[in-house]
Order: sequence, then C-alpha cells, then structure tokens
Amino acid sequence: MTKMKIVEYGDEILRKVTSRVIKFDKSLRKLVEDMFETMYASEGVGLAAPQIGVSKRVLVLDVEYPSGRYTDEKTNKEVTSYNPLVLINPVIIGKDGQIISREGCLSFPNVLIDVIRHKKIIVKYQDLLGKERKLLAEDNLLCRCIQHEIDHLDGKLFIDKPAKAEEVKEVLEKAGFGNVQSPPSSILIG
Ligand SMILES: [Zn+2]
Repeated sequence: MTKMKIVEYGDEILRKVTSRVIKFDKSLRKLVEDMFETMYASEGVGLAAPQIGVSKRVLVLDVEYPSGRYTDEKTNKEVTSYNPLVLINPVIIGKDGQIISREGCLSFPNVLIDVIRHKKIIVKYQDLLGKERKLLAEDNLLCRCIQHEIDHLDGKLFIDKPAKAEEVKEVLEKAGFGNVQSPPSSILIG
C-alpha cells in the first residue's frame, strides 16, 4: 500500500467527470488499497479516486474512523475499529428529504462550510469483484459522505452546494484558495 499525495482544489482533475470502471482486476485492487492507505493516514472518512489523481469512478469510505478509536479498559491499549467500504461505479437511484450540515474535504485543507444534502439515499454500486450491490443510508454521516464522494466522481465539489452561498468565497479566501472555479458545464445543464 502506498500513501498518495492528495490533490488540492485548483487542480483541474477535481473538475473532470470520471470514467466507469470496466475491469475488476489487480490494478483496481491496488488503487483501492492506496486510497484506503491515503484516507486513513489523512484521518478522512471518505476519499474519491480523483483526489489521488485517478479519474475513475471509485470511492472508499470508513465513517467509523477516526471516531472508532478508543482505549480498551482491560488492556489499556488503543483499539481502532475499522469499517471499510468500497463503492465502484456508484449511482444514487433513490433520494428523499434534505439536510444541512457542516462538511470539510481532504482536497480543501482548513475549509468547512454548511452543505445541502439529501436526507436519505439508495445507492447502487459494484464491489471489488464487480458484483452489483445496493445500500440505503439515512440521516447519518455515511449518507452525507457518500453524496460528497459521488459528487467528486462527477467533477462536483462541496462548495457547489452551500447552504449559504456568501459563505463560500469568504471561507476559501481565508484558507488561501484564491479563484473559485465553476463546476463542469455538463453538470449545470443536466
Ligand atoms: Zn471531498
């Protein structure tokens, strides 16, 4: 496993629509391993392939980490509970409701804004073996995180869905990000 460099806002790969995974082979498994390594090392709960410079529809999540770390009372040792999840070619096939919550992104160090998301989603995806699966997430971190990461696969970023539009420019400037880039035009039309 290799910890990769995380691409930051301003790099055009973050605004590209990614391509579907066709081959479920060794190179895909290597990509997923590297993504987990990078995500855990960065203390993130989710990571999309474009964030390490690979324009493919792959994302990894673990919403129990780092909050899943605790000290075992008997052994007094630090224990980490992992709950890794890989979604390949994910598509939201059902959605309902709306919530606003604070989000950050590994590609935007020191940026936190209120973002509008669906309250409930049903996602269709493939696992590492290419098997089709479905997942329902409602009103929790997993639900918001999946939406955030799927957006990455479409060249969309959390700053495109702010609860308060005026907050974005100010927060970006404060964090040292100068120009605000628009999402890809195909997204604006579709
Ligand atoms: Zn992100």
